[in-house]
Amino acid sequence: MNNKLYGHLIFELSHPGRQGYSLPKSEFPQHDLPKGSLREKQADLPECDELTVVRHYTNHSGNNFGVDNGCYPLGSCTMKYNPKINDEIAASAAFQNLHPLQPESTTQGAEEAVCTLRKVLASITGMADFTLKPCAGAHGELTGLMIIKAYHESRGDSKRVKVIVPDSAHGTNPASAAVCGLEVVEVKSKQDGTVDIDDLRSKLDDNVAAMMMTNPNTLGLFEHDIEDIVKMVHDRGGLMYYDGANLNPLLGVCRPGDMGFDVVHLNLHKTFSTPHGGGGPGSGPVGVREGLQEFFPMVNPYHGNFLVELRALTYILTLGKENIKQVGPLATLNATYIKSRLKDVYDLPIEALSKHEFVFDGLRDKSTGVTTMDVAKRLLDFGFHAPTIYFPLLFHEAMMIEPTENESLETLDSFVDVMRRIAKEAAEQPEIVKGAPQHTPISRVDDVMAARNPILIFPENAQ
Ligand SMILES: *Cc1c(COP(=O)(O)O)cnc(C)c1O
Repeated sequence: MNNKLYGHLIFELSHPGRQGYSLPKSEFPQHDLPKGSLREKQADLPECDELTVVRHYTNHSGNNFGVDNGCYPLGSCTMKYNPKINDEIAASAAFQNLHPLQPESTTQGAEEAVCTLRKVLASITGMADFTLKPCAGAHGELTGLMIIKAYHESRGDSKRVKVIVPDSAHGTNPASAAVCGLEVVEVKSKQDGTVDIDDLRSKLDDNVAAMMMTNPNTLGLFEHDIEDIVKMVHDRGGLMYYDGANLNPLLGVCRPGDMGFDVVHLNLHKTFSTPHGGGGPGSGPVGVREGLQEFFPMVNPYHGNFLVELRALTYILTLGKENIKQVGPLATLNATYIKSRLKDVYDLPIEALSKHEFVFDGLRDKSTGVTTMDVAKRLLDFGFHAPTIYFPLLFHEAMMIEPTENESLETLDSFVDVMRRIAKEAAEQPEIVKGAPQHTPISRVDDVMAARNPILIFPENAQ
């Protein structure tokens, strides 16, 4: 949006004395506030007319990229399918205006929704029961690890202080273990991207509380040795934790419970359809196998993020048992299609069959100096969000692509065409790609500077 009137910061549109509305003088008596509660001088707020404010924010909102604007092939943390019916149900007044403390006789419908969701999640994952209280994936991980800790302590086994985490794991796994007061032990991946069983064996002892895994793992690879891994950990008295943030590749194919996992968390805001830009809202329910329910903690007094739960339940019930079985195969088909059509120009370090996502290590031809960051920025010029980049840390130029299960063939083809075009530009006119994005309102931002020296107030007001 290059319109001079609305492309500015709202403070720059301010004119002293300008107002958006006027109210008649109040006929009610004024109450004097205690002195300490009053401002000493007027807040320095922008003074604008209503139309200017509405247009300013409406036009800026169009500068955001979201799943409703275009394809969002962000590996691992992506938003999958978010049908609008879910938002409609969650927005209904009957659910939205519920108060957690209103009489139980008036909330039976909501209670039923919560119970039904617990049951269907248990059936989808092969666990005995779920708690819906945790409000994010990482919150679920912490809850799950606390359950594991409480379980070991209940048996008088207090020496178990280690958690084994593969080097390809999502960053929240080691972080949650550390927050739970446990020691993180990293297990290496083999050349083929799956867990190195020999390295695991050397790290297993009687101090291991749990091993955290996700399968298919963060590289999109199915851990074929999972049964052996589970047995090795169980034989040493540890429990198996499944990070089910991105469960879509498994839906309809297999279940963590059947693989032998003891504790599972899911991200309803990824796999089960709540849009989660900007850090929320989320829901990270935790499921446990039979015998561990008694360790469900009270991490949150009510039912967690109820409206996110409603979206998940609506999603599952509208898809139904039969259609949900297509999610895993379609997620895998779409990712594999893109991978096959791009691997002659992008570097594919792991050739093995992958599931819902895969990783390129930048362009094949590295002589042009065009990096993964450049490709990611250039994608914005063509209306595509970038894939996840520079993660996982196993490759220098990682580009982790997950189209999700619901993109049409035309969208996938268009993404492939753009990625091929960028590879061609990198060879013929690298400066275009290195200078991208060319067509967005702001070109490259200095993210390091923004993170290290954030300017949190309008510059003119800075002291
Ligand atoms: C997103 C994600 C998490 C963390 O979930 P949050 O809701 O962001 O806390 C954990 N593990 C994996 C694999 C993820 O993709």
